[in-house]
Amino acid sequence: MAPRQHLLWRVCPGPQEDELLSSWLHRLATANGLADHTFCRYVWDMTPVWNRDIDRSVRPGLLIELSDWTAVSPERIKETTLWSLEGKLTTHIRDCAISPWVLPLGIYHRVRRRAGQQFCPICMGIEPCYLRKTWRLAWAVACTKHQTWLLDQCLRCGCPLMFHRTSIRQAARALCACCRGNLASLETKPADAEVLAFQRQIEDGLLAGDVPVAGRVVPSLDFFRGLRQFARCVYQTRGRGLVDAFDDIAKPSIPKVRFEHWGAAQRQVLMLVLARCMQSWPHKMRDLMASVRLNPSQLTTDLRERPADWVLDDLGIRRPLPRSRNSLAFRWYGAN
Ligand SMILES: [Zn+2]
Ligand SMILES: [Zn+2]
Repeated sequence: MAPRQHLLWRVCPGPQEDELLSSWLHRLATANGLADHTFCRYVWDMTPVWNRDIDRSVRPGLLIELSDWTAVSPERIKETTLWSLEGKLTTHIRDCAISPWVLPLGIYHRVRRRAGQQFCPICMGIEPCYLRKTWRLAWAVACTKHQTWLLDQCLRCGCPLMFHRTSIRQAARALCACCRGNLASLETKPADAEVLAFQRQIEDGLLAGDVPVAGRVVPSLDFFRGLRQFARCVYQTRGRGLVDAFDDIAKPSIPKVRFEHWGAAQRQVLMLVLARCMQSWPHKMRDLMASVRLNPSQLTTDLRERPADWVLDDLGIRRPLPRSRNSLAFRWYGAN
């Protein structure tokens, strides 16, 4: 094997703070005058990259190889993947199925059919232009720096963001892969102040690994579990959901799929409702549930994830009783 220094790329910009692996690969390729897929072929030979969600599917061995080519440590490179959020955001980040809070890209060959890569047009106009890890998360609906709503598609043609499909001759700018329009020039709208404050709190909590809730500290993994329990009750197909407690919130039509599949506008409403649920915790939440007659047991009907203890304790909800050894409640609580 050639000595390590012979493998290094001539131009090796390091990953930026909170940068995604796919974004960094694109910048590395551009800096060295190569198309994204050509760059990855040099590094990983025939290993498929752009026909999968590389930010949550790259194997550890590939990180070590990329480290050899860039002199950036495998640990730092792992930080650019969504795997680095395991244990803080969710227990496991799955490489292909739906992972809690992670927006899916809907990859078909090298095309992205879902708008799972959000972006802030103002951030995109600032060098270095790069994609943030946070922008792949369902609760991130605003740029807390510029206080504007994030976009999840090109406003001119409706195409999802696909850096790897832009021409290398134009790669210095943030372009839409379909209409070639400049994404940095897209119109932005100011985000809701309540949502901004709530999202800042969540971002800080994810970074620190714990979130302050009503005067105590809750591990962020448990906090996000609880928030998902509420998110599932914002809209109800039968009966009233939490959103119905607010007359001043416009209610968009919601597809009957997990909220990770919702568009940016629908998740903005979701976050506004969740922000209000967490105000004056737990008193406001109790009032809201009473006003829409939401049965507390509805918060524990979906046991694919263990219910958050802080939610059960603060709202006085009994832990679900295991009906058999095969039940999901048995998995979480064992025999009572
Ligand atoms: Zn921004
Ligand atoms: Zn476009």
